[in-house]
Amino acid sequence: MNFHCTKCAGCCTRKNFEAFDDIQLPPEIRFKPNGNCVNLTAENKCAIYERRPYLCSMKAIFTRPHIIAKMGKVGAALAEVVKALKTRFAKKQAEKEWYKFVNSHCNGLIEHLKLSPDYLINIDEQYKEEQVDEKL
Ligand code: SF4
Ligand code: SF4
Repeated sequence: MNFHCTKCAGCCTRKNFEAFDDIQLPPEIRFKPNGNCVNLTAENKCAIYERRPYLCSMKAIFTRPHIIAKMGKVGAALAEVVKALKTRFAKKQAEKEWYKFVNSHCNGLIEHLKLSPDYLINIDEQYKEEQVDEKL
């Protein structure tokens, strides 16, 4: 199950993390004067991708939601979403629904930040071919 990302870089900005105003962000997430994370490269990639913080990994949040549950109001709300999806769906389908949920926020962010509409994710199209095999 793959998380779809069009590398708009919207989530690697101070604006995106403003909602986490009631927690201390991990030290890796700091911002340049232009509002971009210091680890964001000119190619809109994360320079520390393999060791990026938990908060930057949708897979990690899905797998270990008890960590984000303690990260302020937004973290608690996200943990509730993961919990609800895991209750309603079998594991692989729950993961897929989580990625779709996150991608809907990506699209909102892309519009909010007035980024190119080319970055918008056609969620139904992207995930329709993803086969969910619960035996895996
Ligand atoms: S906001 Fe979504 S599409 Fe844009 S870089 Fe972040 S994860 Fe990828
Ligand atoms: S650490 Fe990497 S993934 Fe996380 S906000 Fe910064 S550039 Fe983005």
